[in-house]
Amino acid sequence: MTHMRTNLLVRAEDGATPLQRAQHTLPDIEWASIAETIDAINVLKKQRNAIVLAHNYMTPDIYHGVADIVGDSLGLAREAARTDAEVIVFAGVHFMAETAKITCPDKTVLIPDPKAGCSLAESITGADVRLLRERHPGVPIVAYVNTSAEVKAEVDICCTSGNAVEVVRSLGVDEVIFLPDQYLARWVASQLPEVKVILWEGACMVHERFTGAELRSYRAQTPGVQILAHPECPPDVLAEADYVGSTAGMVGFVKHVPAGGRVVMVTECSMADNVAMEAPGVEFVRPCNLCPHMKRITLDKILHSLQTMTTEVHVDPDIAERARRSVDRMLAIGGGPTAGGTR
Ligand code: SF4
Repeated sequence: MTHMRTNLLVRAEDGATPLQRAQHTLPDIEWASIAETIDAINVLKKQRNAIVLAHNYMTPDIYHGVADIVGDSLGLAREAARTDAEVIVFAGVHFMAETAKITCPDKTVLIPDPKAGCSLAESITGADVRLLRERHPGVPIVAYVNTSAEVKAEVDICCTSGNAVEVVRSLGVDEVIFLPDQYLARWVASQLPEVKVILWEGACMVHERFTGAELRSYRAQTPGVQILAHPECPPDVLAEADYVGSTAGMVGFVKHVPAGGRVVMVTECSMADNVAMEAPGVEFVRPCNLCPHMKRITLDKILHSLQTMTTEVHVDPDIAERARRSVDRMLAIGGGPTAGGTR
């Protein structure tokens, strides 16, 4: 059984473990009760031959305390396929746990709170995709991995925020349907002006709320700051950014910021916290927004999930097979969750 922590983030030079650094962010009394839960989870993981996969947006107690593997949704699914653990507890939202189940159908995948959905993924159904195909016959359909298994099963190919441009370019067409995130679609269109992009008007409620004016004010207040943004942000935000890329791309960028450098990370709150904790030499300005869906996952729910072996994630085998094809096509063209784009 593998319990290697695959941490995609920069390691700090201060000698402290991530867990020790996380501990310093909390009052002792709070940490004492958390430490007990962390111990109980780690004991149960061994007993159940289980690992915890944690998305970058998990709170530091989960991310640093109990996660065996951390990363973005597709990176986690890939790692899931490599593990020899029998049980995967997915600390993230439902479509991510589904993707893990698609990539490793023989394992037991548990989600600590089955209500941890995603408003972006839920903005489109398989029936919607079939309708789009009817309306635009012959036009290939690309889906961001932040979609349900049912949607992935209906499209031609998947992409991440890091490789969206590369995936669309690889199709070699002059027209494409891109769903469900309209801002990521607009970003792709801005990078590939020769391609007509038909978009779905979905949006991530976390990234949509940032504004260009907000970032201009950070730049004015913090001389020399570098602004990092996800392509799921509105165009006026991207216009202010020094770097546009995926979560993993941002992490790679921060790794090369010299000590004393300043960055604004335009993302979910816990992501900025987790990266900041591992890059103590860099000053982080954090105009973050919380994802209420991600925050449904707590340490206590992870413990309960392992105690009761609930809630198991199931994907219809036919849907899983077709969805896997869309993911595999993306992987075959290269790129992936660690890719990011600079401007
Ligand atoms: S941050 Fe939250 S709302 Fe946005 S895509 Fe992720 S899970 Fe969905």
